[in-house]
Amino acid sequence: MRKPTVVVIGGGIAGVGAAYALANAGCPVTLVEAESSLAYHTTGRSAAIYFENYGAAAIRGLTTASRSFFDEPPAGLIDHPLLEGRGALWIGTPAKEASLRSHLADSEMTKHPGRWLGPLQAAAMVPVLRPEYLLGAVLEPEALDLDVAGLHQAFVRGLRAAGGEIRNSTRVDHLERSANTWSITAGADELAADVIVNAAGAWGDVVAVMAGATPIGLEPMRRTAFMVPGNLAYRSWPLVGDTDNDFYFRPDGSQVLCSLAEEKVSEPEDARPDELDIALAIDRINIATTLGIRAVRSSWTGLRTFAPDRAMVIGWDPKVAGFFWLVGQGGTGIQTAPAAGRLTADLITTGQVSSELAEQGVDVAGLSPDRFT
Ligand SMILES: Cc1cc2nc3c(=O)[nH]c(=O)nc-3n(C[C@H](O)[C@H](O)[C@H](O)COP(=O)(O)OP(=O)(O)OC[C@H]3O[C@@H](n4cnc5c(N)ncnc54)[C@H](O)[C@@H]3O)c2cc1C
Repeated sequence: MRKPTVVVIGGGIAGVGAAYALANAGCPVTLVEAESSLAYHTTGRSAAIYFENYGAAAIRGLTTASRSFFDEPPAGLIDHPLLEGRGALWIGTPAKEASLRSHLADSEMTKHPGRWLGPLQAAAMVPVLRPEYLLGAVLEPEALDLDVAGLHQAFVRGLRAAGGEIRNSTRVDHLERSANTWSITAGADELAADVIVNAAGAWGDVVAVMAGATPIGLEPMRRTAFMVPGNLAYRSWPLVGDTDNDFYFRPDGSQVLCSLAEEKVSEPEDARPDELDIALAIDRINIATTLGIRAVRSSWTGLRTFAPDRAMVIGWDPKVAGFFWLVGQGGTGIQTAPAAGRLTADLITTGQVSSELAEQGVDVAGLSPDRFT
């Protein structure tokens, strides 16, 4: 049977992951990206950690189902491991005891339970922590560093090897469907396809409106990260995060990557850091530690885009034929990308989830756009 031709809109991790899986399932695929380089927006601004215990239930299934790709990427896509040991240490003051204990209780319900550490044990792991600031900490040893650029390149390589095409600097501005075929206009360029995959990140609702679909109510939320001087001796530290997500930091080579971990609603845009967010993060981290941060070497802001229930949206639009949603990646778009791409290819080529993904707990109904109608 002829496989559908597909145009994927968006060259972030979601778009390349889906395009790779679709091309390998035998679909003729063209990926279009508005910017002159792929991964220019949120994907290129992420600071990825693989947390199996993170996000809505529907997301956790995708995270688990992605693990085998990270551990053993298909041959020829990448020549180094995508995951590396890191660990995460969630810390709290006495005023945050309830939150810290519920963090521990949540993690105890998962395959990789966390472990309670007293202030001195936490400071023994991360010597800049001030024991007098802490009530305690929850250590999650299973949190892993994830190579975002390596994963993105692996998908691009695999897409090209399977005959897929990539067009940069191609901002889709008009979509029209007639006789079961989409006409996709991007400036002077015209493309045709049976299926459109909407992987436009923060612009997911904008693209939906172009296609005549009802917007989902996606909310792009700012998150700023910045680098401060560090020391190679910090390399073995886990990520240290406030239990209420008021800040986090982790070593990154000879620097320390810090964030306010803020979630502030934004328009879809090329987000830029706000000095006040950086100042607030520095203040909080300097209170909790002896890092004594004074200088910032670089900073950036990405938009983590959430659906109203904070689970991803993966599936056919309930009303507009040939329009497939792959949006709402929020704070887990990297760690779920292999399974999200595979699910997209499954639903487009066979109409159902493969047994391999289903066995890993991928919940098609919990991800479907139908839940908003
Ligand atoms: C500071 C920070 C830390 C993070 N940490 C983690 C983490 O630890 N683990 C994790 O899994 N995730 C993390 N994330 C989240 C992760 O980065 C996102 O979930 C993911 O990158 C979203 O990918 P995407 O492809 O959906 O969006 P994007 O990367 O934004 O890609 C969407 C693309 O669509 C393109 N586009 C839009 N409209 C059009 C159009 N009309 N025509 C053509 N192209 C168009 C855009 O130009 C853009 O390139 C973090 C994010 C941030 C900001």
